[in-house]
Amino acid sequence: MTDPQPIPALQSGALVSIAEVTKTYPACPGDSGPGPGPSPDPGSVGGGRRIVAVDRVALDLAPASVTAVTGPSGSGKSTLLRLVGGLERPDAGVIAVDTEQVTALPPRALPGYRRRIGLVFERDLLIPDLSVLDNVRVAAPARTRADRAATADLARELLDFVGLPHAAGARPGRLAPADRQRVAIARALFGRPGLLLADEPTGALGSEVGGEIVDLVVRIRDEYGTTVLIATHDPEIAIRCDRVVRLRDGRVADDSAALA
Ligand code: ADP
Ligand code: MG
Repeated sequence: MTDPQPIPALQSGALVSIAEVTKTYPACPGDSGPGPGPSPDPGSVGGGRRIVAVDRVALDLAPASVTAVTGPSGSGKSTLLRLVGGLERPDAGVIAVDTEQVTALPPRALPGYRRRIGLVFERDLLIPDLSVLDNVRVAAPARTRADRAATADLARELLDFVGLPHAAGARPGRLAPADRQRVAIARALFGRPGLLLADEPTGALGSEVGGEIVDLVVRIRDEYGTTVLIATHDPEIAIRCDRVVRLRDGRVADDSAALA
């Protein structure tokens, strides 16, 4: 491998290991009417009817790979990403990322874990009143002048990398939607994460610029050795990734790695 920063992998050789992970939700907060989701739950947890959003998913992700999680709306893509990102806890199963067993972390350790992961969403969630450069370094503490100089240097380097070397001083509102998403990606890379999770990053963009965003993600893998998991319902996006895992009703229905 040619990673500039080698990523310590799990013993299995994977960077992410998802083992028999299940996540359910109450069918409806008021428990009235059928939920919008897939099949009602088979093995009911604690009485009320529950939706099984992620159903016994097992998946290992190789270091420095780009995997698309695809499948129709409601198939569990976003839930799976939130589980891996430590934003939610599964009902059952184990998730390990790098050397960290995410599902065993105490609540007080989760914020620190999340800070080491890059997150990108469908909406760029940039702060309109900050410059592009300040948006990229928004998570960085800047207590001293030296801090501010160092974070500005890194932010500029990342803006170069995502193809926006001249946008540093602009407000996000001046940029096209695809360029704002590039800024959001630069922001996600700021902490040099070994893992990048992107939930429908091209969902608000046309197919063509959406494709350019995926090309950028592939460059991130090549340049930084980052492992990437992208949720998308767009087959055109999925096909550009190293591997495509299709979910249906919370289960893995297809995995291109199984065909290789
Ligand atoms: P996708 O991203 O593939 O569209 P989701 O992971 O958002 O799918 O949702 C999977 C299923 O879980 C859906 O039935 C959805 O309604 C349900 N679900 C997701 N999040 C919640 C939540 N916070 N509360 C209740 N149900 C949820
Ligand atoms: Mg979703």
